[in-house]
Amino acid sequence: MRPYILVAEDEASVVELLKYNLEKEDFETAAAIDGDEALMMIEERTPDLLLLDWMLPKVPGIEVCRRVRARAETANLPIIMLTARSEEGDRIRGLDTGADDYVTKPFSTTELMARVRAVLRRIRPALVEDQVEVGDIKIDRTGHTVSRNGQNVHLGPTEFRLLDYFMQHPGRVFSREQLLDTVWGSDVYVEARTVDVHVGRLRKALRQEGTKDPIRTVRSAGYAFKNE
Ligand code: CA
Repeated sequence: MRPYILVAEDEASVVELLKYNLEKEDFETAAAIDGDEALMMIEERTPDLLLLDWMLPKVPGIEVCRRVRARAETANLPIIMLTARSEEGDRIRGLDTGADDYVTKPFSTTELMARVRAVLRRIRPALVEDQVEVGDIKIDRTGHTVSRNGQNVHLGPTEFRLLDYFMQHPGRVFSREQLLDTVWGSDVYVEARTVDVHVGRLRKALRQEGTKDPIRTVRSAGYAFKNE
């Protein structure tokens, strides 16, 4: 699954440049042209990273950042601020508000891409690494293999994608609809119950003597992955 990056920027040429470079590096992107739209889009679908312009119409970048941090669902969303101002004071203010990094305009795309990867690696290592380990479970995306305590676990393609997605966001609760949208794709019509079937298969495949079920059923909410 490609990491989803939201670009909040009102300058069309900058948006185009960012989208072009991000998509070339295999990120999924969307753009918001003002602060209002950015907040709405984040609420609809939480991005894996937000590239946030400081000077945004309607709701300024710094306020978007503050509101994103204030919501429990997005409190940990990685944010890189884009700022035309290079003054030290603003940088500190931006980082104080909760941005994870900032890039001063005009920026080199090479540098920005490096920052994006660095922030993702630091905050969401599971999104950019080929091999990810959470507790005793290890997933290898290149080799498409999964193991638990060193023993191979055989998974179908859907269970593999499901586990991969869970492991990218340990602890987060996902509704069945959210899982359908991201793991199956929003253009596919599948009943919510299907998610239960595949979660059941995943649980069964991961079962081992002396280990705990890493998938938690959250009543009336959905599922969460936690593997200590
Ligand atoms: Ca701007």
